Amino acid sequence: MERICVFCGSSPGAKPGYSEVALELGRLLADRNIGLVYGGGNVGLMGQIARAVLEKGGSVIGVIPKALAEKEVALIELDDLRVVGSMHERKALMAELSDGFIALPGGLGTIEEFVEVLTWAQLGIHQKPCGLLNVCQYYKKFSEFIDHVTDQNFIGKGHRELVLIDDNPKSLLEKFLSYCPPSIDKAAWALRMKNS
Ligand code: AMP
Repeated sequence: MERICVFCGSSPGAKPGYSEVALELGRLLADRNIGLVYGGGNVGLMGQIARAVLEKGGSVIGVIPKALAEKEVALIELDDLRVVGSMHERKALMAELSDGFIALPGGLGTIEEFVEVLTWAQLGIHQKPCGLLNVCQYYKKFSEFIDHVTDQNFIGKGHRELVLIDDNPKSLLEKFLSYCPPSIDKAAWALRMKNS
C-alpha cells in the first residue's frame, strides 16, 4: 500500500481525542512508509495529520481547489501541493492517487467525501478499502444508520461489508493491509431485490 487518503475535519472538533488520533495515524503512516493524501489544508484535523506525517519524515500530497487554498490556508510546508480547479477535480485526483480511504472525525465535507468513495466501491469503480476511524465512538451512530439502511434493503448485505470500522488506527491499518474486496455486483443485487 503506497498511499492512503485521509478525509477529516477542517476543524479540530470538540474532543482532544480527535486530534490525538489524527497525530497517531499520521505517525503510523510515516512509520509504515505509507504516504498521506489529503485535502491540503493547514486547519483542523487536516493540518494536524499532515504535520504529524511531515515531522516523522513521511510523504504527504495535498490536493486543494484554488478557491479553497486561502480559506483552508494551504499548508505551505508541503513539497507536493496540487492546486486544482474544483472540488470534483480534487476528489478525483485524491481517489486516483490513493490505495485506500480513511475518514477521521469531520463535518459535512468529510462525510460527503467518504460516502462518495464508498459508493464508487459499491459500483465496482475501485476495489480499495474504505474505513471509518471510530475514535471516541464518533461514527457509532453513522454506522448504526448504515445498518438500518441495510435492514431496509437499500444496501445489500455484501455491500455493508465495504465499510471497515475500528476505533484504533493500528488495527484499522491491519484491516486495510489484509483487505479482500467483496465481489458483489450492485446492478445484479438491485435486480434480485426488484424480483423478490
Ligand atoms: P469538513 O469535514 O466539513 O470540515 O470538511 C473537510 C474537507 O472536506 C475540507 O477540505 C472541505 O473543503 C471539504 N469539503 C467540504 N464540502 C465538500 C463537498 N461538498 N465535497 C467535497 N469536499 C468538501
